[in-house]
Parts: sequence; C-alpha cells; structure tokens
Amino acid sequence: MPSALITGITGQDGSYLAELLLEKGYDVHGMVRRASTEKFDRIEHLRDRITLHQADLLDHRSLVDALRAAKPSEVYNLAAMSFVAVSWIQPTLTAEFTGVGVTRMLEAVRETCPDARFYQASSSEMFGKVLETPQTESTPFYPRSPYGVAKVYGHHITVNYRESYDLFATSGILFNHESPRRGLEFVTRKITWHAAAIKAGKRSELALGNLDARRDWGFAKDYVDAMWRMLQHDKPDDFVIATGETNTVRRCVEIAFDEAGLDWEQYVRLDPQFLRPAEVDLLVGDPAKAKRDLGWEPTTTFEELIRLMVRSDLELLGA
Ligand code: NDP
Ligand code: GDP
Repeated sequence: MPSALITGITGQDGSYLAELLLEKGYDVHGMVRRASTEKFDRIEHLRDRITLHQADLLDHRSLVDALRAAKPSEVYNLAAMSFVAVSWIQPTLTAEFTGVGVTRMLEAVRETCPDARFYQASSSEMFGKVLETPQTESTPFYPRSPYGVAKVYGHHITVNYRESYDLFATSGILFNHESPRRGLEFVTRKITWHAAAIKAGKRSELALGNLDARRDWGFAKDYVDAMWRMLQHDKPDDFVIATGETNTVRRCVEIAFDEAGLDWEQYVRLDPQFLRPAEVDLLVGDPAKAKRDLGWEPTTTFEELIRLMVRSDLELLGA
C-alpha cells in the first residue's frame, strides 16, 4: 500500500488531498501542530481513516519523528503561513514557516526517507510583478510580498535539493484555487460568505480593497489531483497549474451577488485597510506543460466555482 505524509493537512488543500489519496488506497498520514484547542473541522470526517502526527515546521526534531513514524513513499509539503496580507504583518515568521520550513522538511526527508517523492506547494505569487503573460515555468520571478519572497526561496531550495542530492523533489507552481473550504480571509470566500450572510440577514455590507486585481482562479479539488499526478510522473520537475483564464475581483463580486439574488452595488463598500503595500495586478497561467506531461486539465470554470461556493455558504448560513 503506498503511504503519504501531508503537512498542512488541516488546510483547504490538505483536506481535499487526504480525501483523494484515501480514495486511491493510500495509507494517509498528516502533520498537525499543537494548539490548546483542536481546529480540525476540514478533516473531522476523515479522522478515523488517517493517522495524525504532532510536528511543527519550525522544529526539525519533530519533523524527523513524524517522518520516521509515517514511513511515507510520498511527502506533500503544504504547510505554510499562506495568507499574503498577513505576510507584511509577520514577515520574519512567514520567512521561517513558508521559506526556511521547506529546507527543514527537505533535510528531514533526506535524513529519514531519501527515496520518498517530495512535493513543494509553490505559488503564482512568486511571479508578482507582471513581466510576461501568460506565466509559464520559465517566466522570471518578481515577488511583491514577504509571502511571495518566502515561496521563491522554497521553490529554489526544492530545485536545489533535486539537483544536489538527487531527491525526487517537485515544485508545483499553483495559481489561486478556491472552494467552499477556503479560509474566510481570502477574497473569493470572503465575497461568497458575505453574499450569503447578507441574504440571510446576518450582515449588512461587504468591505473590500482592490476590485481591479486580476487572478487566475481554479477549483481546489482539481488542483490536488494535479499535485498527485506530479508525483506519479517519471521525473521530478516544475509545473504551472492554472486555468488560463483571468478575472477581476469585481467580476467575482458580480457573480456571487447574482447567485444570492442581490444587487452588489447596494452592499459593497471600498475600505483602504484591505489595500496592500504592493499589489500583484494580474496573474494568468499557462498550464500547457501540465496538460502535455500529466494529462491534467481543470474541470470547473470560474463562474461555476463562485456559484457553487455561494450555494454552499447559503446552506451553511441557513439562508
Ligand atoms: P491553508 O491556509 O488552508 O492551510 C495551511 C496549512 O498549513 C494549515 O494546515 C496550517 O495548520 C499549516 N501550517 C501553518 N503553519 C504551520 C507550521 N508552522 N507547522 C505546521 N503546520 C503549519 O492553505 P491552502 O490549503 O490553501 O494552501 C496549501 C499550500 O499551498 C500552502 O503552502 C499555500 O501557501 C500554497 N498555495 C496555495 C494556493 C491557494 O490558492 N490556495 C496557491 C498557491 C500555493 P493550522 O491549521 O494549524 O493553521
Ligand atoms: P492572493 O492572490 O493569494 O493574495 O489571494 P487573496 O484572495 O487574498 O487576494 C486576491 C486579490 O484580491 C488581491 O489582489 C487582493 O488585493 C484583492 N482583494 C481586494 N479586496 C480584498 C479583501 O478584502 N481581502 C482579500 N484577501 N483580498 C482582497
């Protein structure tokens, strides 16, 4: 039976990936960090089918112990401080978790299971300032946030360990991906949740920042399938995972409020506190390599995605 260790299993992607690997017959292990109150909502339904190990990306010893116990044939490193806006508030912590944390994981893999295949959760935020579109595996990086800078480090150290130690270390450069399990602070879920909450009479308005930012948004379930495919490929490599379509935050608002049966202009207000010190204006990825080498394609359009997220939030809020 193949076995996998997922760091960040309590997150959006970790929970969908755990489901996918269980369906494929894997022995699934997850790494969780200690907290005084457990917050395992996204994996509650899987608890009796997965094994959890307490460890932290900041603590080498704990990573080694988790890997020794799990004996994985595949390691998915999804844990990170993943929210761009907070990376300006906690820049050094972001560098520690999201950047140097990758080296700690790679070192722990090298020490305990050097034959395991390693996946690093890299990000389109590494492209940052628009140098070319669509962005591909060879587009230069110009990160625009402490998060983006930390992810560039994580990407390069993954490539470096592949080349230095012959590890099967793959970097997936994933563009934004969303779902009903997306954290409430990210813009799509913030919008879909507020549209539903306004419909349910639990909120009266929605405050947003830059409505003109453009992102290439896909469905998280499709994207965890791409992660798995990358580790089944015959060699470690870098892959862009994207839909190839870009939309504005404003368009997201229009679709979400339409699904909730509301006129968005009556409820949305601009609030400068949600503007960022430096912005990524436009992301649009070219997934041609993933299609060619992995047979991967997105299955869900942006509009379908936002509408399904609104329906899920309407149900959640009893609207
Ligand atoms: P989430 O924010 O939903 O999940 C992040 C996970 O990391 C959580 O399980 C969190 O645990 C864990 N974590 C954070 N810090 C630590 C730590 N010090 N030690 C152990 N675990 C830690 O992110 P997503 O699921 O959306 O994203 C998964 C990965 O993919 C992240 O690395 C993200 O940066 C990257 N990515 C995501 C994209 C997206 O659009 N979703 C796009 C490109 C890349 P806890 O529950 O304890 O907080
Ligand atoms: P990111 O691409 O990883 O930063 O994902 P987010 O969902 O956090 O942000 C996507 C885009 O939405 C960015 O360009 C933000 O500036 C923009 N945006 C506009 N208003 C908001 C808001 O209120 N919250 C968030 N999170 N982003 C916003």
